[in-house]
Amino acid sequence: MQEAAPRSSPIIVITGTPGTGKTTHAQLLAEHSPVSLQHINISELVKEKALHDGFDEEWQSYVVDEDKVVDELEPLVEAGGLILDWHACDAFPERWVDLVVVLQCNHTQLWDRLEDRGYPLKKIQENNEAEIMNVVLEEAREAYAEEIVIPLQSESTEDLESNVSRIVQWIEAWQKNQKLDSGS
Ligand code: ADP
Repeated sequence: MQEAAPRSSPIIVITGTPGTGKTTHAQLLAEHSPVSLQHINISELVKEKALHDGFDEEWQSYVVDEDKVVDELEPLVEAGGLILDWHACDAFPERWVDLVVVLQCNHTQLWDRLEDRGYPLKKIQENNEAEIMNVVLEEAREAYAEEIVIPLQSESTEDLESNVSRIVQWIEAWQKNQKLDSGS
């Protein structure tokens, strides 16, 4: 099989249970990244492009068609330079992804964040349980190579800032490696 050409900018997945801080991190990272990164909030994209099979009233969420999501993103992937912000990280093909950041938050704090968001009780409980059981982290570890999956705590502004600077450092190291690999 032919090797894909190296990308000049990485594809970073920011994932975690709803409410752990994906969108907040993705926005700050897009501002501070040393390379231009486009933040794609997949939940927004699903709504905007109707990449779903309807709205589930009971769960107050769209029934996402993951194949449609992958098809929609595929043309953007070759150029790289993306932050993919979604809770269902294992939907993305392994070949797309350079780094997977899994955000984590203590469950009482998460409960408050989801309550503030006006989620129905059932949805708060389900997400809270998923956070306690590390469901997203386990899914990420099953879907991607161990060394690219990084769990990070997201409970305070200090966490947010230190996480973003850690990812910025990772991007700088990634860029150096790409240059070495391409011999330039
Ligand atoms: P997600 O995209 O994972 O659903 P958001 O980024 O929308 O989560 O964050 C949910 C709420 O939690 C927002 O009100 C946000 O300001 C807050 N929040 C997220 N991460 C942090 C953090 N590290 N410290 C303090 N508040 C945070």
